[in-house]
Amino acid sequence: MNASPTCRNCGSTEFCEIPVHQGRSVRRDCARCGRTFNFPVWNGEQNETSAAKAATSTAGEELAINHRKENRQ
Ligand SMILES: [Zn+2]
Repeated sequence: MNASPTCRNCGSTEFCEIPVHQGRSVRRDCARCGRTFNFPVWNGEQNETSAAKAATSTAGEELAINHRKENRQ
């Protein structure tokens, strides 16, 4: 689980981490196109394991769908 994050928008693997919320959170933006990838730190908590909680709604929907499938089995 150590694959480099890849921007869904442009395919770049370079990101900028930007402190937000007075430094309590960190937003990771694509270095090339500037699209928000995820929040590695949210409210002072490391959020690295839940990269699926990406800021993009698409990722959240995929997660919800997978979760529903698991429940049905
Ligand atoms: Zn990008």
